[in-house]
Amino acid sequence: MKIQSIRGMNDLLPEQSATWQYLEKIVADVLSRYSYREIRFPILEQTELFKRAVGEVTDIVEKEMYSFEDRNGDSLSLRPEGTAGCVRACTQNGLLHNQTQRLWYTGPMFRHERPQKGRLRQFHQIGVEAFGLTGPDIDAELLLITANLWKALKIDHAVSLQINSLGTSSDRAQYRAALVDYLTARKSQLDEDSQRRLDSNPMRILDSKNQDTQALLNDAPKLADYIDDESREHFEQLCAMLDAANISYQINPRLVRGLDYYSKTVFEWVTNHLGAQGTVCAGGRYDGLVEQLGGKPCPGVGFAMGVERLVLLLDELAVVPDSIAQTVDLYLVAVGNLELEALVLAENLRSQCPGIRLECHCGGGSFKSQMKKADKSGASIALILGEDEAASGTIGVKYLREDIVQQSVAQDSLTKLINDRF
Ligand code: ATP
Ligand code: MG
Repeated sequence: MKIQSIRGMNDLLPEQSATWQYLEKIVADVLSRYSYREIRFPILEQTELFKRAVGEVTDIVEKEMYSFEDRNGDSLSLRPEGTAGCVRACTQNGLLHNQTQRLWYTGPMFRHERPQKGRLRQFHQIGVEAFGLTGPDIDAELLLITANLWKALKIDHAVSLQINSLGTSSDRAQYRAALVDYLTARKSQLDEDSQRRLDSNPMRILDSKNQDTQALLNDAPKLADYIDDESREHFEQLCAMLDAANISYQINPRLVRGLDYYSKTVFEWVTNHLGAQGTVCAGGRYDGLVEQLGGKPCPGVGFAMGVERLVLLLDELAVVPDSIAQTVDLYLVAVGNLELEALVLAENLRSQCPGIRLECHCGGGSFKSQMKKADKSGASIALILGEDEAASGTIGVKYLREDIVQQSVAQDSLTKLINDRF
């Protein structure tokens, strides 16, 4: 029996990696234009970190974490999200002491969910976090970054923004109590999942997909009525900033998010091009989290994008330029025991023409079979080195995609010919 990969943990094959790199490059470019810097932290952390950050009674911690005891008997977990580890790393290294930080990271996250389109057990996020800033201006900046990113990726027409305010944690506690009172009196009318959540995480009932539950919620207490003045003002200012920046959004009073640490602003970018897994980017403010993890109080706000979902969307909308699939400009064909000469020539060309991508044929074979490979490589030019060329210090230049006759070029002038073209 061949050993297979773990369900929900996919390989990224070379054919798809070009799209990933295209996405990652655009994201990194946009973030650097806003002066965000990359941070890297481990994939494995103490289980306690996620319990404290994400929350004991969230789906993630209750059901989805990959946790195990290591050889010392410590309970460790593969990270299910990035914010907890990012906050841990920043606190531990003193990055939050009397300073602000604008950071981003990327990498795999792990959740034991039911695998389906856009939902995996190992998936990838690009996360962005800003620390030390309390005002709605930084919330707005994060949303501007995302809006610009969608434009750069040419998917802005296919995504829309939903925002809400969750108030402070004490606002939420009061609201939660009122909601539980209301729903407990109507428990039998709730779907099964929501009945279970009534005890553990009642706010999550608000985003139940069940129609009857949603209908029941129409007359339920409204979170907006429980939010303190400061949070309300913060939210109104954020909306004014988004209006001024011409970012359209929808206020969704039932948007609550699945993690415990949020306060005030929460948001999601959603698309209807991906079926049920339509959220491509989600985040919010988490002013209490740093302190909750043992640091000095420090406000924070951030979001994470799902890379797989964004790639699905890019493919679905066919907005990735064809040119990214092309990885070779020139293919060097060498016939007649000239492997050594070919390697040397290829090295010289690479150093003298730094912009080119040159594949040097390896493994010998007939002229015909090498030319076939040259064509298949996608290169636009085949460079041909045979015994005649080697003797006369020339090289054959054959254009593979254009109607131009093959030329014989002195090896000395080859650099100029290539640099002029590429
Ligand atoms: P969902 O409601 O879709 O389960 P979530 O609220 O659990 O999402 P977050 O924890 O906010 O998601 O993660 C941010 C983003 O990461 C999501 O918007 C989504 O794009 C992506 N994501 C989350 N879980 C998965 C997964 N299992 N597989 C692929 N992408 C995921
Ligand atoms: Mg989820």
